[in-house]
Amino acid sequence: MTEKAAYSLPKKGKSQNDILNELTQMKKNDIKWEEGKNFCLVYSLGQEIGEFIKKAHNTFISENALNPTAFPSLCQMENEIISMSSGLLGGNEKTAGSLTSGGTESILLAIKTAREWAKEYKSSIKKPEMIVPETAHPAFNKASHYFGVKIVTCKVDPKTYKADLKDLKKKINKNTILMVGSAPQYVHGVIDPIEEMGKLALEYSTLLHVDSCIGGFLLPFFKMLGIVTPSFDFSVPGVTSISADLHKYAYTAKGASVILYKNQELRKFQYFATTDWAGGIYVSPSISGTRPGGPIAAAWAMLNHLGENGYMEIAQKTYEARRKIEEGISRIQGLEVMAKPEAGIICLGSPMFNIFAIGDKLSERGWYFDRQHHPDSIHLTITHAHHKVSEKFLEDLSWATNKTQNITTSIGNLKTTLTKGIVKILPKKLVTKMATKEGSKVTSSSSSNKDTAAIYGLMGTLSKKGSLDEMAIELMDQMFTPKKKD
Ligand SMILES: *Cc1c(COP(=O)(O)O)cnc(C)c1O
Repeated sequence: MTEKAAYSLPKKGKSQNDILNELTQMKKNDIKWEEGKNFCLVYSLGQEIGEFIKKAHNTFISENALNPTAFPSLCQMENEIISMSSGLLGGNEKTAGSLTSGGTESILLAIKTAREWAKEYKSSIKKPEMIVPETAHPAFNKASHYFGVKIVTCKVDPKTYKADLKDLKKKINKNTILMVGSAPQYVHGVIDPIEEMGKLALEYSTLLHVDSCIGGFLLPFFKMLGIVTPSFDFSVPGVTSISADLHKYAYTAKGASVILYKNQELRKFQYFATTDWAGGIYVSPSISGTRPGGPIAAAWAMLNHLGENGYMEIAQKTYEARRKIEEGISRIQGLEVMAKPEAGIICLGSPMFNIFAIGDKLSERGWYFDRQHHPDSIHLTITHAHHKVSEKFLEDLSWATNKTQNITTSIGNLKTTLTKGIVKILPKKLVTKMATKEGSKVTSSSSSNKDTAAIYGLMGTLSKKGSLDEMAIELMDQMFTPKKKD
């Protein structure tokens, strides 16, 4: 290998203006979230509030929350954010928590905490296990991978998509240290039976984590509005920790989530300290060392700016948009909402047509969303931004469905067995690449490789799970390999 790296520092730096223009230019192929055409990844309340949050973020862009004695400002903001979040999620003066970089870090910490707690209180357990519904977020698999807590999957009810309590109970054994429920789970947007899980957790003396990453800052306001919502928070006996993302329905800057515990004693198991480092005593509450001040300041600013009334208004609009889209879907022949939505998520499927083909058509009109399997569906996270565009979306959905009816049979009943998560990591272009690469190995009558629907079908006829995981990693690796510009 004698070739140089694809990029090197410019010999002479460029002007600030040029750089800023270049940055704006680089956005041109990104999804158009400002128009509310995305149903994932970005949560926005529009430009005016967007500017406010940027200012708040920038006020603390250099500060580092790693050392709370150096920046009492950030420490205070963090304490206030945790306290406000606890209040929303059924906590009391005993509830404790930490601010993290996102839902994944919150979940990783909950699992690490459970493992350390078990060492103390269930010391006979040498091989700890957690029971997690199959619909839970992959962050739990990641936590298992990182921390060596075995993940035991529990089934969900095939109709409601909620954790199957009978199966859950069957999976409890002497190594179980933790159970997990979601409020709601990301895939179908339904809330697991947390109250019943709480009873089981108490009966078997295990911890119970509620993943409310995508509901924690929406459901409390639904409740205040009188929208019927199952109980899921600290008011439920047995719940010992909750994760809730600020950078989702609290509309704060990216890099902010909370992990809350029933009490400080439990939170202590999360912390890390080492006192024999040559650099002095080092204590850290979470996974990151340096903790950027920007997201903390932005979160504090947004919570205080919107307040309860502001969030209630936003939740009301989100609910209206969701109801409208749900109703619109039920009027389009051949489409269905797969599970009764309980938060901000709609899982859209079709018993008649290939839903991925419909998705391809929808994409042509600029809409952006996740494609899911088990069962095949389109995932819509409804936010405040969709209040304005729900009508247009339904029009386009109806058009896409009409356009798709005829071509459906050609892709027919090829069943996808894509591994969970692969669809999310890989954008359409890469899935296309992947299928093209593998496509030569199978004889297929399906149409052009540009057609995602065909590709998902094709994938289903290919490799088993292991090699699909490898392919996904291989392709992500490719994406993170710098390529020379032509
Ligand atoms: C988003 C999400 C997560 C992970 O959060 P990140 O901020 O993406 O790390 C975990 N669980 C659920 C239910 C989510 O929606």
